[in-house]
Amino acid sequence: MELLKERIRKDGIIKPGNVLKVDSFLNHQMDIQLFNEIGKEFKRRFADVKVDRILTIEASGIGIAAIVAQYFDCPVVFAKKTQSINLDGTMLSTKIESFTHKRTYDVIVASRFIQPGENVLVLDDFMANGCAAMGLIDLIESAHANVVGVGIVIEKGFQQGGRMLREKGLRVESLAIVDGMDADTQSITFREN
Ligand code: 5GP
Repeated sequence: MELLKERIRKDGIIKPGNVLKVDSFLNHQMDIQLFNEIGKEFKRRFADVKVDRILTIEASGIGIAAIVAQYFDCPVVFAKKTQSINLDGTMLSTKIESFTHKRTYDVIVASRFIQPGENVLVLDDFMANGCAAMGLIDLIESAHANVVGVGIVIEKGFQQGGRMLREKGLRVESLAIVDGMDADTQSITFREN
């Protein structure tokens, strides 16, 4: 998605440790016009699948998913990061290791918000090692629902997540794939479509 790549080139800041900061337009301040274009692009890429729900994870996935869901005309559910898990069967839970915070979270979603047999699209702002996406997939599978695809705004293609999910046969659509970035020169290389 050229518009997104241009915006990353213009406003993205490359931090040491393979972190790309895009907080001026994606995950702190949010450019809603850009989000609308992102929504149209995901809808175009997943036009052939029926999507009953979008599942994302708090916090930065929520704003994007809320706008994208308008193009799929479906509800958004976000998985919550929590300290305490209520194991009475009303919650689905999994563990996710955070790339940016280097810690493991318990993540929950109320089981009534993912019904057996439903088609669920996973959506997130970034993919690095794929832990967040794998955790969301785990929640969907434990609800006996179907993962119809994984939509990622920015995939860091030099980390393992995208390859790992595609090797599992999952349909991953990333709007921009970064193949390399250098914090010293602030240069970034995108994968050709
Ligand atoms: P993963 O679970 O794939 O290793 O990492 C994905 C999660 O970590 C995303 O939900 C995102 O919030 C965060 N993340 C990973 N890499 C980056 C990055 O380079 N920049 C930002 N802003 N967030 C990232």
